[in-house]
Amino acid sequence: MKKLKKNSRCTICKAKGEKEKAIIYLPHHRLTLCKKHFISWFEKRVEKTIKEFKMFSTNDKILVAVSGGKDSLALWNALTKLGYEADGFYINLGIDQYSIDSKELALNFAKKIGRELHILDLSKEIATIPQLKEISNRPACSACGTVKRYYMNKFAKEKGYSIIATGHNLDDEVAVLFGNTLKWDIDYLKRQYPVLKEENGFIRKVKPLCKITEKESALYSFLNNIDYIEYECPFSVGASSIEYKEFLSRLEEKHPGTKLQFYTNFLKKMYPLLNKEKEKKEELKYCKICGEPSYNEICSVCKLKQKVEKLVNTNYNINM
Ligand SMILES: [Zn+2]
Ligand SMILES: [Zn+2]
Repeated sequence: MKKLKKNSRCTICKAKGEKEKAIIYLPHHRLTLCKKHFISWFEKRVEKTIKEFKMFSTNDKILVAVSGGKDSLALWNALTKLGYEADGFYINLGIDQYSIDSKELALNFAKKIGRELHILDLSKEIATIPQLKEISNRPACSACGTVKRYYMNKFAKEKGYSIIATGHNLDDEVAVLFGNTLKWDIDYLKRQYPVLKEENGFIRKVKPLCKITEKESALYSFLNNIDYIEYECPFSVGASSIEYKEFLSRLEEKHPGTKLQFYTNFLKKMYPLLNKEKEKKEELKYCKICGEPSYNEICSVCKLKQKVEKLVNTNYNINM
């Protein structure tokens, strides 16, 4: 990690008269920390974010969206250590080796912390992501986002969870915010809040790592001996959000604190303005086929399903 001077001492230890060696310098917080104090700083920061945005309490049953990556596993670890009741939910997307590896890491971690990991196989529900990419003619990430949101929400309701927690970190949120701002996409900006309320058949969704950077969650995972998948999903290569991340990280390098300021000032100053005008009542609809909330008569997942079925039938007829 950058700018940690040789032989630096931990700020907190120093104040207590101890001499623990620091392992990280957090320039945007002006903190130099040892292993023990970085871990507790991280967990306190997550707890503070949960309280600040009134995300949930220890009475809630939480379902953590687990991808096998550092963020979701770090989140699951921190929530468990903070005393929350959190189980994991892993969707097997069927993306070759990436899915095989990430599933194994997610399973190993669940065993390690002694919590349940629910697994949903997309190939059994609809089709794998590579298949859906072919069928829908859309970028894989777009179909993937749609089906993940859908099955996560449906599953959580069926199993009686009241909260869905995702591992989106500060870098993710800032990259999305930046993209939406470049386009002045007001509808998306209006929804960019670390808590999405439960309404219209959707369960409450929260992002407790929204003020944690990617580097911080990687370090937290490393220090806690969490094995996570270290490579990105092969489909995410070339996504504009990755370009934004690289650009913003260069900016952060020169001006530490830029990301956090951009994000927190948006939440404090811009978000309330965007939501001032009375919400136009979005007509509440439920999908005619599956009954899940939808903006149209038939939800996008059921539409995808119809396409899959049509294709299977056509192939069947040809094979006859
Ligand atoms: Zn210390
Ligand atoms: Zn449907």
